[in-house]
This record gives sequence, C-alpha cells and structure tokens, in this order.
Amino acid sequence: MSNTHTPIPISTAKTQTWQQQLANAFTDIDALGNYLSISPAELNLPTQTIDFPLKVPQSYADRIEKGNPNDPLLKQILPEQTELTEAPGYLSDPVGDLEASANNGIIHKYHGRALLITTGACAINCRYCFRRHFPYQQQQLSKQRIQNALSYIENHPELSEIILSGGDPLALSDERIDHLLQQLKDFTHIKRIRIHTRLPVVLPARITRQLMQTLINSGKQIIMVLHANHPQELNNEVADTCRLIKQYPVTLLNQSVLLKDINDSAEALCDLSEALFDIGVLPYYLHLLDKAKGTQHFEVSESEAGQLISQVQNRLPGYLVPKLVKEISGAPCKITVASTVMQS
Ligand SMILES: *Cc1c(COP(=O)(O)O)cnc(C)c1O
Ligand code: SF4
Repeated sequence: MSNTHTPIPISTAKTQTWQQQLANAFTDIDALGNYLSISPAELNLPTQTIDFPLKVPQSYADRIEKGNPNDPLLKQILPEQTELTEAPGYLSDPVGDLEASANNGIIHKYHGRALLITTGACAINCRYCFRRHFPYQQQQLSKQRIQNALSYIENHPELSEIILSGGDPLALSDERIDHLLQQLKDFTHIKRIRIHTRLPVVLPARITRQLMQTLINSGKQIIMVLHANHPQELNNEVADTCRLIKQYPVTLLNQSVLLKDINDSAEALCDLSEALFDIGVLPYYLHLLDKAKGTQHFEVSESEAGQLISQVQNRLPGYLVPKLVKEISGAPCKITVASTVMQS
C-alpha cells in the first residue's frame, strides 16, 4: 500500500476551520486504510455498498492507532460485512422515535422534557448508531417544521427542558443555532437547553468562542452532554476544547454506549470515567445498545453489562459511575439496568 507517488496527507487538520475539516472527512475506506497503514485484507469490509457510508474527520482518525485493525476507535466507524446480515430483534427503528418525530421533529416521550431533532447530519458515522436508518439523513429541519416544533413547545407549558438532538445539533451553523435559541428564549417555561452532541469529541474545532457565546445568549441554563465511548478518544485537542467550554457557565456530562470489543471491560470503563473527569466532564449514562438493524456485532448482554458496572462501582467513587440504562419503546424514561453485586 505504500506508494511513493501518493502524496502523504499532511496533518493540516488544526489549521482548517471546522467546516473545512467536515468537508475533508474521510469517506473512502481505501484512503483511510492507507492513512492508517492498514490493508483492506486485514479488515472485514462489506462486499456490497451500505447506505450508511464511512465518514470520519481526520481529527478523529488521528487518534486511531496506526497499523491496528482492532483499534477501539476504528471499530466504531468502520463498515463491516456483518452489518449486512439480518439478526432477530434488530429493527430499523428500535426505539420508535422515527414515527414520533415524523411531523415536527419533536419527540416528547418523557415528562417535562422533549427532544428536538434539529438535523439528520453528523460529523461522523458511528456504526452502532440507532439513527442510521433515520429517513431525514442529511436533511436540515425545514422552516415549516421548525415553526411546527416551536408552536408545539409553546403549547406545552409543562415542558421545562428542550434537548437539541439529531443527528448532531452542532452540525448546524452558528446562525441557525442562534435563530433557534432566540426563538426559544421567548418561552419562559423553558428553563434549560440541553445539547446532545458528539462534535466536541470527534471534531473539537467546532467549539469556538462564538458558538459558546451563542449558547449563552439563549439566556437559559445550558447542559452539554458529550458522547465518548473510549478514553483514547479524549486527546489533548478534546481536553483544550472542554477547557474552553468550561470558561462558560455550562454543565458538562458524557454519555456512552456499551460496545462489544470496544469498551466492554471494567478497565476501559474506569479509564474513560477518570479521563472524562480529568477534563471536567462527569459520566452520565452508559447505554445498552439500541437494537438497530446491522448493529448486532456490538451487542453486550444485559447480564454481562450488569457485572461490568458492578466492577466499575467497586473501583470508582459514585460520581464517576455512569448510570447503566436501556431504552424501551413506549417507556416513560430510560430503564436502569441493575448492577450484579459481586464481592471483590
Ligand atoms: C433519552 C431521552 C431523553 C432524555 O432523557 P433523560 O433521562 O432526561 O436524560 C428525552 N427524550 C427522549 C425521547 C429520549 O430518548
Ligand atoms: S454522532 Fe451520534 S447521532 Fe451521529 S452517527 Fe454517531 S451516534 Fe449517531
């Protein structure tokens, strides 16, 4: 694979704007393999095209260990042949959200808080994503749907928190975010804006002072829930980004998905919690996999998960133990999965 005529990509990532980094993300498996010194023969690549393509920004690719086909970060983003096989219980819409959000992008399933699907776009395509079959893939919320969402929020005074989700809400431009937040500002019943985003982890350059100021200008309390699954994701660039975020009055949390052969060990989970706290982030949720079609190779059984979280509890202070949860279609909240108490 080494070819002296192929220009070696120079790590220019940090000098590019986040939009440029997004536009230059790897979408070609051969190019990524070349960059990582991993030959296609070492990977279990799909024999057919999958309608959820490879997408990974260079900043994230730079944290993948060169030459290691089993790298825990690589496994999160690499399309595999197993995605094409059917498995019982794995569905296109495992948590019933697609139906719920069909009209206005609002998913109001839980008391007092509602989730607003702002965009289908993400900076990265995580193979285990339960939104991989989301029908609005790259589509932004139309003006009409935003208006419908806003009138829904206006007409539901019992809501006190709006969760911006997607896709990734920070894939939107500052202008669009500002526009949305300014409209939410008028609703006095909304006290908190929560942002579920993987961008500070996978494309740290997205976090700028201008973005932070836009969030603060909402006049609401801001909670950012990041998404990192493995301590190796949290490099210096991410640490600097979290430091920048923490210069503003923002609560920083993290949610993870428990993933087979990626973070399904007490060591990985403990290291993740420690690494998060080092950069000022508290663990919030550890999710069992949502059973989306094509993701069965990531499954960790509930009993194994219960044992893992028990081992984490035995080692860490309570505030570093994420709550192990699963989502059940139609339930009024996430369901806590009990830890299996073990004597150490
Ligand atoms: C996960 C989720 C929330 C947020 O739940 P919290 O327990 O408050 O973090 C809200 N709405 C929907 C539809 C969700 O899936
Ligand atoms: S960032 Fe989140 S929404 Fe986007 S692909 Fe990954 S898991 Fe799915």
